[in-house]
Amino acid sequence: MTEFELIARYFDRPVRGARPGIRMGIGDDCALLAPRAGYELAVSTDMLVAGRHFFSDVDPAALGWKALAVNLSDLAAMGAEPRAFTLALALPDADEEWLSGFARGLFECADRFDCELVGGDTTRGPLAICITIFGEVPEGRALRRDGARAGDDVWVSGEVGDAALALARSRAALDAGASAGSNLRAFDDGPREALERPVPRIALGLGLRGIATSAIDVSDGLAQDLGHILAASRVGATLGANRVPVSETLEREGDDVRYRCALAGGDDYQLCFTAPRAQRDPVEQAGRNHATRVTRIGAIDADLGLRFVDADGADFRFPDGLSLHGFDHFA
Ligand code: ADP
Ligand code: MG
Repeated sequence: MTEFELIARYFDRPVRGARPGIRMGIGDDCALLAPRAGYELAVSTDMLVAGRHFFSDVDPAALGWKALAVNLSDLAAMGAEPRAFTLALALPDADEEWLSGFARGLFECADRFDCELVGGDTTRGPLAICITIFGEVPEGRALRRDGARAGDDVWVSGEVGDAALALARSRAALDAGASAGSNLRAFDDGPREALERPVPRIALGLGLRGIATSAIDVSDGLAQDLGHILAASRVGATLGANRVPVSETLEREGDDVRYRCALAGGDDYQLCFTAPRAQRDPVEQAGRNHATRVTRIGAIDADLGLRFVDADGADFRFPDGLSLHGFDHFA
Protein backbone atom coordinates (compact mmCIF):
# COMPACT_ATOMS: atom_id res chain seq x y z
CA MET A 1 0.00 0.00 0.00
CA THR A 2 1.41 3.41 -0.94
CA GLU A 3 1.00 6.50 1.21
CA PHE A 4 -1.72 7.78 -1.12
CA GLU A 5 -3.60 4.48 -1.18
CA LEU A 6 -3.49 4.47 2.61
CA ILE A 7 -4.99 7.98 2.81
CA ALA A 8 -7.61 7.16 0.17
CA ARG A 9 -8.61 3.88 1.81
CA TYR A 10 -8.79 4.92 5.45
CA PHE A 11 -9.15 8.67 5.73
CA ASP A 12 -10.53 10.25 2.56
CA ARG A 13 -14.28 9.98 2.52
CA PRO A 14 -16.85 12.22 0.88
CA VAL A 15 -17.75 15.24 2.99
CA ARG A 16 -21.07 14.25 4.52
CA GLY A 17 -24.23 16.32 4.24
CA ALA A 18 -24.23 20.05 3.73
CA ARG A 19 -20.96 21.50 4.97
CA PRO A 20 -21.19 25.14 3.94
CA GLY A 21 -18.11 26.03 5.97
CA ILE A 22 -15.89 23.50 4.20
CA ARG A 23 -15.06 24.63 0.67
CA MET A 24 -12.31 22.07 0.16
CA GLY A 25 -11.44 19.00 2.23
CA ILE A 26 -8.80 16.29 1.67
CA GLY A 27 -7.06 16.22 -1.71
CA ASP A 28 -5.44 19.56 -2.39
CA ASP A 29 -2.46 21.30 -0.79
CA CYS A 30 -4.69 22.98 1.77
CA ALA A 31 -8.22 22.61 3.01
CA LEU A 32 -10.36 25.73 2.56
CA LEU A 33 -12.59 26.70 5.47
CA ALA A 34 -15.02 29.60 5.61
CA PRO A 35 -16.12 30.53 9.13
CA ARG A 36 -19.58 32.04 9.40
CA ALA A 37 -19.80 35.85 9.52
CA GLY A 38 -19.68 37.11 13.11
CA TYR A 39 -17.82 34.04 14.39
CA GLU A 40 -14.25 33.51 15.52
CA LEU A 41 -12.24 30.45 14.65
CA ALA A 42 -11.18 28.42 17.73
CA VAL A 43 -8.06 26.36 16.94
CA SER A 44 -6.32 23.77 19.10
CA THR A 45 -3.70 21.03 18.64
CA ASP A 46 -3.02 17.95 20.74
CA MET A 47 -0.39 15.33 20.19
CA LEU A 48 -0.56 11.74 21.44
CA VAL A 49 2.70 9.78 21.50
CA ALA A 50 2.89 6.00 21.97
CA GLY A 51 4.42 5.04 25.32
CA ARG A 52 3.79 8.52 26.67
CA HIS A 53 0.07 9.13 26.25
CA PHE A 54 -1.08 5.60 25.53
CA PHE A 55 0.15 2.01 25.60
CA SER A 56 1.15 1.05 22.05
CA ASP A 57 -0.98 -2.11 22.25
CA VAL A 58 -4.14 -0.18 23.15
CA ASP A 59 -7.28 -0.97 21.13
CA PRO A 60 -6.83 1.14 17.95
CA ALA A 61 -10.55 2.04 17.78
CA ALA A 62 -10.41 3.42 21.33
CA LEU A 63 -7.26 5.33 20.39
CA GLY A 64 -8.93 6.83 17.30
CA TRP A 65 -11.86 7.95 19.44
CA LYS A 66 -9.67 9.42 22.16
CA ALA A 67 -7.28 11.22 19.78
CA LEU A 68 -10.20 13.30 18.50
CA ALA A 69 -12.10 13.45 21.80
CA VAL A 70 -9.24 15.20 23.63
CA ASN A 71 -9.15 17.87 20.92
CA LEU A 72 -12.93 18.28 21.01
CA SER A 73 -12.62 18.74 24.76
CA ASP A 74 -10.55 21.88 24.16
CA LEU A 75 -13.32 23.28 21.96
CA ALA A 76 -15.87 22.41 24.67
CA ALA A 77 -13.83 24.37 27.20
CA MET A 78 -13.99 27.45 24.95
CA GLY A 79 -17.70 27.07 24.22
CA ALA A 80 -16.86 26.51 20.56
CA GLU A 81 -18.78 24.41 18.07
CA PRO A 82 -16.75 21.72 16.24
CA ARG A 83 -16.29 22.18 12.48
CA ALA A 84 -13.21 20.40 11.12
CA PHE A 85 -9.92 18.77 12.01
CA THR A 86 -6.65 17.67 10.43
CA LEU A 87 -4.77 14.49 11.30
CA ALA A 88 -0.99 14.08 11.23
CA LEU A 89 0.00 10.44 11.67
CA ALA A 90 3.42 8.84 12.12
CA LEU A 91 3.12 5.07 11.69
CA PRO A 92 5.78 2.39 12.13
CA ASP A 93 4.13 0.44 9.28
CA ALA A 94 0.89 0.29 7.28
CA ASP A 95 -0.86 -2.30 9.48
CA GLU A 96 -4.30 -2.62 7.87
CA GLU A 97 -6.02 -4.08 10.90
CA TRP A 98 -4.69 -1.28 13.09
CA LEU A 99 -5.58 1.40 10.52
CA SER A 100 -9.14 0.20 10.00
CA GLY A 101 -9.76 0.03 13.77
CA PHE A 102 -8.21 3.46 14.30
CA ALA A 103 -10.24 5.02 11.46
CA ARG A 104 -13.45 3.42 12.78
CA GLY A 105 -13.00 4.91 16.27
CA LEU A 106 -11.91 8.25 14.87
CA PHE A 107 -14.90 8.62 12.54
CA GLU A 108 -17.29 7.37 15.20
CA CYS A 109 -16.22 10.33 17.32
CA ALA A 110 -16.17 12.69 14.30
CA ASP A 111 -19.75 11.75 13.37
CA ARG A 112 -21.03 11.96 16.93
CA PHE A 113 -19.73 15.52 17.29
CA ASP A 114 -20.19 16.62 13.69
CA CYS A 115 -16.57 17.38 12.91
CA GLU A 116 -15.10 16.76 9.44
CA LEU A 117 -11.61 15.44 8.65
CA VAL A 118 -10.29 17.93 6.07
CA GLY A 119 -6.60 17.07 5.71
CA GLY A 120 -3.46 15.81 7.34
CA ASP A 121 -0.08 14.29 6.82
CA THR A 122 1.08 10.69 6.86
CA THR A 123 4.68 9.61 7.46
CA ARG A 124 6.58 6.58 8.65
CA GLY A 125 7.94 6.87 12.19
CA PRO A 126 7.35 5.94 15.84
CA LEU A 127 3.57 5.87 16.40
CA ALA A 128 2.29 9.38 17.08
CA ILE A 129 -0.99 11.14 16.36
CA CYS A 130 -1.36 14.88 16.09
CA ILE A 131 -4.77 16.44 15.53
CA THR A 132 -5.52 20.09 14.96
CA ILE A 133 -9.13 21.04 15.43
CA PHE A 134 -11.13 24.02 14.20
CA GLY A 135 -14.29 25.27 15.86
CA GLU A 136 -16.46 28.35 15.72
CA VAL A 137 -17.61 30.63 18.49
CA PRO A 138 -19.59 33.89 18.20
CA GLU A 139 -17.23 36.86 18.34
CA GLY A 140 -16.24 37.78 21.88
CA ARG A 141 -18.26 34.96 23.49
CA ALA A 142 -15.59 32.27 23.97
CA LEU A 143 -15.25 30.86 27.51
CA ARG A 144 -11.75 31.92 28.47
CA ARG A 145 -9.55 31.21 31.47
CA ASP A 146 -9.23 34.82 32.58
CA GLY A 147 -12.80 35.72 33.48
CA ALA A 148 -13.21 34.30 37.02
CA ARG A 149 -14.13 36.90 39.66
CA ALA A 150 -14.11 36.77 43.49
CA GLY A 151 -17.48 35.48 44.67
CA ASP A 152 -18.06 33.26 41.60
CA ASP A 153 -18.91 29.62 42.24
CA VAL A 154 -16.54 26.89 41.01
CA TRP A 155 -18.22 23.99 39.18
CA VAL A 156 -17.13 20.74 37.61
CA SER A 157 -19.00 18.50 35.18
CA GLY A 158 -19.41 14.73 35.55
CA GLU A 159 -17.04 12.87 37.85
CA VAL A 160 -13.27 13.12 38.04
CA GLY A 161 -10.55 10.60 38.85
CA ASP A 162 -11.74 7.43 37.13
CA ALA A 163 -9.32 7.67 34.20
CA ALA A 164 -6.40 8.05 36.59
CA LEU A 165 -7.65 5.09 38.60
CA ALA A 166 -7.80 2.92 35.46
CA LEU A 167 -4.31 4.05 34.49
CA ALA A 168 -2.93 3.31 37.96
CA ARG A 169 -4.52 -0.14 37.87
CA SER A 170 -3.12 -0.95 34.45
CA ARG A 171 0.33 0.29 35.51
CA ALA A 172 0.15 -1.93 38.58
CA ALA A 173 -0.87 -4.82 36.31
CA LEU A 174 2.10 -4.04 34.05
CA ASP A 175 4.47 -4.02 37.02
CA ALA A 176 3.02 -7.39 37.98
CA GLY A 177 4.12 -8.66 34.59
CA ALA A 178 0.76 -8.84 32.83
CA SER A 179 -0.16 -7.13 29.58
CA ALA A 180 -1.69 -3.74 30.27
CA GLY A 181 -4.75 -4.15 28.06
CA SER A 182 -5.83 -7.54 29.29
CA ASN A 183 -5.50 -6.73 32.97
CA LEU A 184 -7.30 -3.43 32.69
CA ARG A 185 -10.29 -5.35 31.36
CA ALA A 186 -10.40 -7.53 34.45
CA PHE A 187 -11.70 -4.58 36.51
CA ASP A 188 -15.13 -2.98 36.34
CA ASP A 189 -15.79 -1.06 33.14
CA GLY A 190 -16.45 2.47 34.41
CA PRO A 191 -12.87 3.60 34.94
CA ARG A 192 -11.67 1.91 31.75
CA GLU A 193 -14.40 3.66 29.73
CA ALA A 194 -13.38 6.96 31.28
CA LEU A 195 -9.74 6.38 30.30
CA GLU A 196 -10.28 4.97 26.82
CA ARG A 197 -13.47 6.69 25.64
CA PRO A 198 -13.70 10.13 27.21
CA VAL A 199 -16.80 12.07 26.15
CA PRO A 200 -16.00 15.71 25.39
CA ARG A 201 -18.51 18.08 27.01
CA ILE A 202 -19.33 19.93 23.79
CA ALA A 203 -23.04 20.52 24.41
CA LEU A 204 -22.45 21.69 27.98
CA GLY A 205 -19.70 24.07 26.78
CA LEU A 206 -22.09 25.62 24.25
CA GLY A 207 -24.81 25.82 26.91
CA LEU A 208 -22.49 27.69 29.28
CA ARG A 209 -21.83 30.56 26.89
CA GLY A 210 -23.14 33.73 28.49
CA ILE A 211 -23.42 31.96 31.88
CA ALA A 212 -19.89 30.84 32.87
CA THR A 213 -17.23 33.49 33.48
CA SER A 214 -14.32 31.11 32.78
CA ALA A 215 -13.75 27.48 31.82
CA ILE A 216 -11.04 24.90 31.26
CA ASP A 217 -11.12 21.22 30.41
CA VAL A 218 -9.58 18.94 33.03
CA SER A 219 -6.77 17.08 31.30
CA ASP A 220 -3.90 17.30 33.79
CA GLY A 221 -5.70 17.06 37.14
CA LEU A 222 -8.45 19.26 38.60
CA ALA A 223 -6.20 21.12 41.05
CA GLN A 224 -3.62 21.99 38.41
CA ASP A 225 -6.11 22.90 35.70
CA LEU A 226 -8.21 25.06 38.03
CA GLY A 227 -4.86 26.63 38.93
CA HIS A 228 -4.59 27.86 35.32
CA ILE A 229 -7.94 29.66 35.67
CA LEU A 230 -6.82 31.18 38.99
CA ALA A 231 -3.53 32.39 37.51
CA ALA A 232 -5.10 33.82 34.36
CA SER A 233 -7.87 35.52 36.36
CA ARG A 234 -5.52 36.63 39.19
CA VAL A 235 -7.76 35.17 41.90
CA GLY A 236 -7.76 32.23 44.34
CA ALA A 237 -10.29 29.55 45.28
CA THR A 238 -11.55 27.52 48.21
CA LEU A 239 -12.92 24.06 47.42
CA GLY A 240 -14.70 21.50 49.58
CA ALA A 241 -12.40 18.47 49.37
CA ASN A 242 -15.36 16.11 49.65
CA ARG A 243 -17.59 18.04 47.29
CA VAL A 244 -15.48 17.02 44.30
CA PRO A 245 -17.65 14.39 42.54
CA VAL A 246 -16.17 10.90 42.15
CA SER A 247 -17.61 7.59 40.97
CA GLU A 248 -18.75 4.90 43.40
CA THR A 249 -15.75 2.88 42.30
CA LEU A 250 -13.33 5.62 43.28
CA GLU A 251 -15.27 6.28 46.48
CA ARG A 252 -14.50 2.72 47.56
CA GLU A 253 -10.75 3.32 47.25
CA GLY A 254 -8.64 4.53 50.19
CA ASP A 255 -8.37 8.27 50.80
CA ASP A 256 -4.89 8.43 49.32
CA VAL A 257 -5.93 6.99 45.95
CA ARG A 258 -9.25 8.80 45.97
CA TYR A 259 -7.89 12.32 46.47
CA ARG A 260 -4.86 11.79 44.26
CA CYS A 261 -6.95 10.48 41.35
CA ALA A 262 -9.75 13.05 41.75
CA LEU A 263 -7.59 16.13 42.25
CA ALA A 264 -4.32 15.36 40.48
CA GLY A 265 -5.19 12.47 38.18
CA GLY A 266 -5.72 13.91 34.75
CA ASP A 267 -7.29 12.56 31.55
CA ASP A 268 -10.76 13.43 32.87
CA TYR A 269 -11.90 15.73 30.05
CA GLN A 270 -14.58 17.22 32.27
CA LEU A 271 -15.18 20.96 32.32
CA CYS A 272 -14.17 23.02 35.34
CA PHE A 273 -15.81 26.43 35.18
CA THR A 274 -16.82 29.44 37.21
CA ALA A 275 -20.10 31.34 37.21
CA PRO A 276 -21.63 34.12 39.31
CA ARG A 277 -23.86 33.01 42.21
CA ALA A 278 -26.81 34.57 40.38
CA GLN A 279 -26.31 32.01 37.60
CA ARG A 280 -26.80 28.89 39.78
CA ASP A 281 -30.18 28.05 38.26
CA PRO A 282 -29.05 28.55 34.64
CA VAL A 283 -25.97 26.35 35.29
CA GLU A 284 -28.16 23.60 36.78
CA GLN A 285 -30.52 23.97 33.82
CA ALA A 286 -27.64 23.70 31.33
CA GLY A 287 -26.57 20.49 33.07
CA ARG A 288 -30.11 19.07 32.83
CA ASN A 289 -30.48 20.16 29.18
CA HIS A 290 -27.39 18.21 28.25
CA ALA A 291 -27.86 15.29 30.66
CA THR A 292 -24.58 16.16 32.32
CA ARG A 293 -24.07 16.21 36.07
CA VAL A 294 -22.79 19.58 37.27
CA THR A 295 -21.50 20.00 40.83
CA ARG A 296 -20.69 23.17 42.72
CA ILE A 297 -17.40 22.43 44.48
CA GLY A 298 -16.36 25.78 45.93
CA ALA A 299 -15.90 29.48 45.33
CA ILE A 300 -13.46 32.01 43.91
CA ASP A 301 -11.72 34.31 46.45
CA ALA A 302 -9.72 37.48 46.05
CA ASP A 303 -6.83 35.80 47.97
CA LEU A 304 -4.48 34.02 45.58
CA GLY A 305 -3.91 30.28 45.86
CA LEU A 306 -6.03 27.14 46.08
CA ARG A 307 -7.33 25.97 49.47
CA PHE A 308 -9.32 22.87 50.45
CA VAL A 309 -11.74 22.78 53.36
CA ASP A 310 -13.86 20.13 55.07
CA ALA A 311 -17.65 20.29 55.57
CA ASP A 312 -17.20 22.69 58.52
CA GLY A 313 -15.00 25.07 56.57
CA ALA A 314 -11.82 24.05 58.45
CA ASP A 315 -8.58 23.44 56.52
CA PHE A 316 -8.79 19.98 55.02
CA ARG A 317 -6.04 17.54 56.04
CA PHE A 318 -5.04 15.33 53.13
CA PRO A 319 -3.29 12.01 53.82
CA ASP A 320 0.39 12.62 54.65
CA GLY A 321 2.66 13.07 51.68
CA LEU A 322 -0.16 13.43 49.16
CA SER A 323 0.87 15.63 46.24
CA LEU A 324 -1.75 17.50 44.28
CA HIS A 325 0.60 18.34 41.45
CA GLY A 326 -0.95 17.34 38.17
CA PHE A 327 0.76 15.94 35.14
CA ASP A 328 3.80 17.77 33.70
CA HIS A 329 5.87 16.28 30.90
CA PHE A 330 9.02 18.10 31.96
CA ALA A 331 8.75 18.10 35.74
P1 ADP B 1 1.36 17.59 0.69
O1 ADP B 1 2.49 16.86 0.06
O2 ADP B 1 0.84 18.76 -0.08
O3 ADP B 1 1.58 17.86 2.14
P2 ADP B 1 0.19 15.06 1.01
O4 ADP B 1 0.65 14.31 -0.16
O5 ADP B 1 0.92 14.89 2.31
O6 ADP B 1 0.11 16.59 0.64
O7 ADP B 1 -1.34 14.72 1.29
C1 ADP B 1 -2.27 14.66 0.22
C2 ADP B 1 -3.65 15.04 0.70
O8 ADP B 1 -4.04 14.09 1.67
C3 ADP B 1 -3.68 16.41 1.37
O9 ADP B 1 -4.92 17.00 1.08
C4 ADP B 1 -3.59 16.08 2.84
O10 ADP B 1 -4.24 17.06 3.62
C5 ADP B 1 -4.31 14.74 2.89
N1 ADP B 1 -3.81 13.85 3.97
C6 ADP B 1 -2.59 13.33 4.14
N2 ADP B 1 -2.53 12.53 5.22
C7 ADP B 1 -3.77 12.53 5.76
C8 ADP B 1 -4.36 11.90 6.88
N3 ADP B 1 -3.68 11.09 7.71
N4 ADP B 1 -5.67 12.15 7.13
C9 ADP B 1 -6.36 12.97 6.33
N5 ADP B 1 -5.88 13.56 5.25
C10 ADP B 1 -4.60 13.37 4.96
MG1 MG C 1 2.24 16.03 3.41
